[in-house]
Amino acid sequence: MITGKNFIGNELIGNGKVTFKTYDPVLNKENEWTFIEVSDDELQRAVQLANVAFEVYRNVSGDQRAVFLEQIADEIETLGGELLNVFSKESGLPTERARVERSRTTGQLRKFAELLKEGSWVDARINTSTDASTPDLRKLNIPIGPIVVFGASNFPLAYSTAGGDTASALAAGCPVIVKSHPMHAGTGEMVASAVVKAAKKTNMPNGVFSNLNSSGIDVGVKLVSHPYVKGVGFTGSINGGRALMDLAAKRDEPIPVFAEMGSINPVVLLPKYLQENLSEVVEMYANSITQGAGQFCTNPGLLLGLKSDLIDQFAIQLGQEVASKEPVCMLHPTIHNNFEKGKKNALNENASVVAKYEGQSNSNCGEALIATVSGAEFLQNTKLHHEVFGPFSMIVKCESISQLEEIIAKLEGQLTGTILATEDELISNNSVVDKLRNRVGRMIWNGVPTGVQVNPSMMHGGPYPASSDVRYTAVGVDGIKRWVRPAAFQNWPDQLLPIELQNENALGILRMVNGEFSRKSIN
Ligand code: NAP
Repeated sequence: MITGKNFIGNELIGNGKVTFKTYDPVLNKENEWTFIEVSDDELQRAVQLANVAFEVYRNVSGDQRAVFLEQIADEIETLGGELLNVFSKESGLPTERARVERSRTTGQLRKFAELLKEGSWVDARINTSTDASTPDLRKLNIPIGPIVVFGASNFPLAYSTAGGDTASALAAGCPVIVKSHPMHAGTGEMVASAVVKAAKKTNMPNGVFSNLNSSGIDVGVKLVSHPYVKGVGFTGSINGGRALMDLAAKRDEPIPVFAEMGSINPVVLLPKYLQENLSEVVEMYANSITQGAGQFCTNPGLLLGLKSDLIDQFAIQLGQEVASKEPVCMLHPTIHNNFEKGKKNALNENASVVAKYEGQSNSNCGEALIATVSGAEFLQNTKLHHEVFGPFSMIVKCESISQLEEIIAKLEGQLTGTILATEDELISNNSVVDKLRNRVGRMIWNGVPTGVQVNPSMMHGGPYPASSDVRYTAVGVDGIKRWVRPAAFQNWPDQLLPIELQNENALGILRMVNGEFSRKSIN
């Protein structure tokens, strides 16, 4: 049952005066539930509880934290079909997508549990004393403190209440305060109830998790400014992410903000490959651009090719294929309006329409658009470099490879970069590859950037503004590294060291001992 209240630690409370509702974009009307914006007193209590919980939670063993994460996954599954219904009513996304996102969310939680049980993630380093003048030094990663997580609009489960940021922070030993996304506050409350149930069942300290409702920026600003908060996870717009980064940097004690923001995910189309695979590339990209109404951070928004009859043919075919697809409902009227504005802005900047949907679509549906522009125009007009969030892609016709390279070099940082090329083309265009690699987090050969695997080799982040800190990924178990700091012990008594650093008790955990990786005890 959705109450509209806030989880302040384990307690459901809603004494605030301001209320708001979520929106069903398919029915084009407000949903039935009323959410109560968290009051200032409640917010202060949530942060204080998190601060006290940290004293206990940071010393809860990895095995116990793993049980907690597994229990959260089980409790989310217990919410059953009702969670999927609420997800769809608050996002317009179909039930199948809700199911996929739910299994990604529970899968992530279970992967972090496995990581904790295995234990090596703490990156233990041990240098034993070799003589009287050399101290015994040992180092490992420890949690940084309470983390504020901002739920993402475009992933109500996998990047929200118990999504990747929350799972990785809880795994690291950090309490989490979620600032629930106002577009899917009901989904958020249901998932929060699962986290709180799991926390109670596994005896985690009260305050290890809170979920706060809000439909304006004040709550987020207060949370990020609070001295007890030690880190922030965010997915959303560049404006929102940048505002939080600046706020965090201005605090008396600056804190890290891990923000995953906009990206247009450039794709380079080299001629031989395109010639040989034209129809497959058209189909693959028409699907990638329109999938989920294009509301993915990895949506391919920029297609770079060489001016030729071939690229003209590709543009026409891609345009026709995209225009033939029935428009899909977007997440919210605001996101739909932003999409319409973004398309108009691009067309006002000398981009031309290749093809667009000609039918009559329902309210809030994103009509896909393919536009085209010359390389010279794109180079001198940086307004064309902005993300248009939705089913939109711009084909840039470059005069030469050197102009294409110049464009890549001038792009802002990106999550992904894709090259469609034969192996020979890839080898002979080493400089294009090198320039692209310098601007992006993940390189793709002959595929599409959409579809993010959750595994240890994934990199979901990139140079600013794709993300606020290019050194870290928001997806995959390495996401845990955002919430820890290295701490060293010099000449410490063995039995008082964290278990991962002790001589005998860390048996089986991979550690670097005197320069060599080892799973053995130290004699
Ligand atoms: P958003 O406007 O960035 O908001 C995300 C969250 O941050 C919301 O909870 C919002 O709070 C909060 N927030 C925003 N600005 C803030 C500020 N200055 N101070 C404190 N908190 C702040 O993004 P959105 O509402 O999810 O979606 C809007 C647009 O973001 C989309 O149209 C799209 O362009 C972009 N977006 C991009 C990606 C991507 O992966 N590239 C993903 C999602 C969204 P309130 O809502 O309560 O005000």
